[in-house]
Amino acid sequence: MEIELGLDNNYELLGQETRTFLELPHGLHIGGRQIQTASTYALRDPSNGQVFAHAGQASASDVGEAVTAAKRALRGSWGRFRPHQREACLLRLAQLLEEHARTLSEIETICSGRLLRNTLDVDVNYSAHVLRYMAGWSTKLSGRTTRLSVPYVTDGELDGYTFREPVGVVAAIVPWNVALGLAIWKIAPALAAGCTVVLKPAPSTPLTALYLAQLALEAGVPEGVLNIVTGSEPGLGEAMVRHPDVDMVSFTGSTHVGRLVAREAAGAFKRVSVELGGKSPVIIAQDADLSRAIPQAAWAIFANHGQNCCAGSRLYAHASVYEQVLEGIVSIAESIKLGAPLDSDSAMGPLINRAHSEYVLNYVKEGVREGASLRTGGAGLDHPGAYVQPTVLAGVSPTMRVVREEIFGPVLVAASFQNDAQAVSLANDSEFGLGASIWSRDLDRVRYMTRALQAGSVWVNTHNTLDVNLPFGGWKNSGMGHDLSEESVLAHTRIKSSVHHYMEQDAFDAV
Ligand code: NAD
Repeated sequence: MEIELGLDNNYELLGQETRTFLELPHGLHIGGRQIQTASTYALRDPSNGQVFAHAGQASASDVGEAVTAAKRALRGSWGRFRPHQREACLLRLAQLLEEHARTLSEIETICSGRLLRNTLDVDVNYSAHVLRYMAGWSTKLSGRTTRLSVPYVTDGELDGYTFREPVGVVAAIVPWNVALGLAIWKIAPALAAGCTVVLKPAPSTPLTALYLAQLALEAGVPEGVLNIVTGSEPGLGEAMVRHPDVDMVSFTGSTHVGRLVAREAAGAFKRVSVELGGKSPVIIAQDADLSRAIPQAAWAIFANHGQNCCAGSRLYAHASVYEQVLEGIVSIAESIKLGAPLDSDSAMGPLINRAHSEYVLNYVKEGVREGASLRTGGAGLDHPGAYVQPTVLAGVSPTMRVVREEIFGPVLVAASFQNDAQAVSLANDSEFGLGASIWSRDLDRVRYMTRALQAGSVWVNTHNTLDVNLPFGGWKNSGMGHDLSEESVLAHTRIKSSVHHYMEQDAFDAV
């Protein structure tokens, strides 16, 4: 690991639009208006812990206002929009995202400590792509028409129709690790399906959502369709989930909170989708192309500083290549430049805050205490930023906490395997089932492992490659429901069946 760069963000690098935005008093966005709150809370730059802005502290009554605005829009202007008008709004929003790309990515980077190129690629450019894909679904949702045969209805003719109608008001709750990107994953299918949204960003990353809400108005999305409530109080998300006029809860975050959310929502028979944590295995077989597998396994864990739900945090390499793979990954880890997220030369920035970097480092200590061998990293930097060195723990065993629990930082745990069945068994020995990758050139091996792995996404010779046209969701404790693809749009619809009884003459009589 190299530390050559400045570790503090240099705000001189920010564009004028970003600086102006950061200086604004930030409130909530309800019913198309900025609402100032009675109290605010401080936002801290993860690169140095300094306060750079304040955000609005929403109350339960603000949540009520936001839900009322969303309900009004559902029954009003938005409800009357034709599908092609919803499509047009989403397409314009995609365009506006691209026009404001630099500002959005700078704001996201300052809030989250993620690298500028990462927020630009993932939160802005990929989001524009998602919006365009979802825009198309607005005009493609349809039901079925069926000639019915109900045995006890003997007169006339029966036709049956199904309609897909919007579920209603969606409470969308997202984490900080890809704040804008995940917000779009929630908002785009909801709007395509005709729903309205109250979005709660994570406490540390509220600002791009507020900026997005302004762009949505500019794109023609009517007032009240997209509302944003921000805050750092733990009860805020709960108030959203509990609100009786919320029809669906779409949550991304930790398994612990997701379980609480799912329980609460299911108790009120609300539609619920929860996308949760992971501990995704990377399996490198003896026949893998190591020139690709080693660097990609390294970045499967170190990308986004390990704060990816499907980070490749468990490495299993065949015993015959294990040492070579480990040495390769350690050498990449040691070449990674830690630096300020706004600096284009940085390869890794800080984690979200000091509490989280300490949490991650405690896991490393625990792993060593349990007998893992620390091959590199394992420390922070002598600096107030939430930096953690890329870390590799080798020789781990399945019962260790570092193997079983999600660390959500740049910490790879590694072990070897002797045969394919053992690799699959190690990989599946987890409460999580979000993603898994296989590195091999042997088709039989690839097929066997793809079928045997218990994960919502299985990647072959790639990792964490998410296409908007494929459903993304977890198995086991990694979630329930899907983001992206047709699946996520359909999840925002409810089906109505309608039976029509015709007593007119049979159509065939006319022939
Ligand atoms: P978190 O669960 O602590 O918080 C997520 C969101 O829920 C935040 O907005 C938070 O304020 C809110 N929240 C907290 N308590 C709540 C409650 N009782 N009711 C309703 N909302 C509540 O997660 P985090 O630390 O912000 O994010 C990291 C986690 O997110 C990791 O576990 C990661 O794997 C997961 N994640 C999953 C995916 C996925 O698609 N599966 C994607 C990204 C992140």
